[in-house]
Amino acid sequence: MEPAKSPLPPLPKGESIPAFVTNPDWTHRSRAAVWHPCTQMKQHDVGDLPLIAIARGQGAWLYDFAGRRYLDAISSWWVNLFGHANRRINAAIKDQLDRLEHVILAGFTHAPVVELSERLAALTGNTLGHCFYASDGSSAVEIALKMSFHTWRNQGQPDKNRFLCLADSYHGETLGTLSVGDVALYKDAYAPLLRPAKTVPSPDARQAQPGETAADVARRAAAGLESHLAEHHESIAALIVEPLVQGAGGMVMYDPEYLRRARLLCDRYGIHLICDEIMVGFGRTGTLFAHEQAAIRPDFLCLSKGLTGGYLPLSVVLTTDSVYATFYDDAVMRGFLHSHSYTGNPLACRAALATLDIFAEDAVLERNRPFAERFTALLEPLANHPQARHFRHTGMIWAVDIGTADPDFRLRFYREALQREVLLRPLGTTIYFMPPYILNDDEAALLAERAVEALKAALA
Ligand code: PMP
Repeated sequence: MEPAKSPLPPLPKGESIPAFVTNPDWTHRSRAAVWHPCTQMKQHDVGDLPLIAIARGQGAWLYDFAGRRYLDAISSWWVNLFGHANRRINAAIKDQLDRLEHVILAGFTHAPVVELSERLAALTGNTLGHCFYASDGSSAVEIALKMSFHTWRNQGQPDKNRFLCLADSYHGETLGTLSVGDVALYKDAYAPLLRPAKTVPSPDARQAQPGETAADVARRAAAGLESHLAEHHESIAALIVEPLVQGAGGMVMYDPEYLRRARLLCDRYGIHLICDEIMVGFGRTGTLFAHEQAAIRPDFLCLSKGLTGGYLPLSVVLTTDSVYATFYDDAVMRGFLHSHSYTGNPLACRAALATLDIFAEDAVLERNRPFAERFTALLEPLANHPQARHFRHTGMIWAVDIGTADPDFRLRFYREALQREVLLRPLGTTIYFMPPYILNDDEAALLAERAVEALKAALA
């Protein structure tokens, strides 16, 4: 793996932080023309929310037009695995660009999509032998939900048309995915448009009572799942979970025991298990796929984000040969008549193949383990801050809750971190780290140090 270069030395201790620069030209035009995601736009105009125009990226760093740099400690919304402007992924995309940029995937195929499908299936031990593509995570979840329902319908059980999700779950923001989500911030305004899933208890390890382990909490949550299934399984198509870490719901972490039990219960009661590994896939939890830690396989596996190393929009749903077989028929209507224009885009598939090559050639998972230990140690001052609660860590994800009643904490911390050259976006009062896998030790130390400084400043 290429070690990330740190082009500027870290600021020496005590040196003052340069004034905040917001690139007035591009940000002004952007505020006029671009409707930014997940943003109350007025905060950019009259509030304290900075808008930063990025000119280029290199390794873990983003550079604005004034030459200021920001350490991308959230991998640009959890997508970037091997840094910005990665030489090997760049080369693969450039090579593909001169061959074939895109072709319709209905009635046609191409080498990158075939190779990617074969390699992804192999990575599941060929238990999930068929790949269906889309462009973003939400579409993948929609596909898995539709496929699950349609499988039961093809098997003569159309009444299995409800879904189960976990408390605090997040699976995207289209109407179908909001219906299986449980984050009020994104969901409540659209409640009249949704067909909500039933929510069962989350195995959130923070719920452990004195003397209880995370596995005990997982067993308790699984008992809640079982009592619901016992009564309602005939109307339920699938349980959807984010394995091991529930991301947008607050970086909720839980024991693999829950997944083991959920798999058994799904089998016992005849419902599908959908693993949404859009965030946790590709090494984020320490194994290539998070569900591997429970030694189970889902019926549907949703992947996106890190799939292309954070380069191009691509998502995929992998499923079993037996699900595939229920659609394989003379009757057209038994087929899965679902499509997106850019399904299986060759450039995105080449980026994904280059990403898988890096995993294989650089022993990434093995390298991440000692890094994670070192970074956990570096975060000790943050974990020990008097207002820090529930410091937790799974693989290459770290999170800590901050005990504060300040409704502006999130924005304050975000600004303070940016002023210290670090991009961190808390979820409410939860600060989390999800860096690319290429941080060197100096960058890791800088990140940990600046995060504590930003916390102190935000709470001051
Ligand atoms: N599922 C999970 C677990 C996610 O974290 C996300 C995105 N944060 C999605 C689904 C939706 O993916 P996208 O934003 O690409 O639609």
